[in-house]
Amino acid sequence: MRDVVIYGDAVLEAKAEPVAQFGPELELLCSDMFETMKHDRGIGLAAPQVGVSSRVFVTDIEGDCKRVFVNPEIIMTSPEQTEYEEGCLSFPGLYFNVTRPAAVKVQAFDEKGKAFTLEANDLLARVILHENDHLDGKLFIDRISPFKRERALKHYARLIRM
Ligand SMILES: [Zn+2]
Repeated sequence: MRDVVIYGDAVLEAKAEPVAQFGPELELLCSDMFETMKHDRGIGLAAPQVGVSSRVFVTDIEGDCKRVFVNPEIIMTSPEQTEYEEGCLSFPGLYFNVTRPAAVKVQAFDEKGKAFTLEANDLLARVILHENDHLDGKLFIDRISPFKRERALKHYARLIRM
């Protein structure tokens, strides 16, 4: 297991580097990320959230298999948008509605270096978009209006003082 990096750490707002090499180090990172995510009851986790600035994220959603996305590229998003309440392991206790495309098509590699293309909708699409944002240093508070962002951050500041 690894420690989850909490908002305020620069790694969360940096653009992560592409993975250049597949192998045991990457596989260990992925299995650690699954452990960490399970422990914290998350459904998605990006490598920068465990302090590793690499383009990797994992998902574990009920009713779906566990998935690894290495060097993902979002190649299509649907014009339809949906609004749904999101949380983020890097903002413990903070939840608010975020509007995102309802469906997504993504190309990536698994932890063994096998390329795949996946079309996802509903919760999986949302988690893919949320986690992919982490790889570009973008956080869910950056996906709401400046007014709502300020309100969410004030609320979060109160939460972490408690
Ligand atoms: Zn997050």
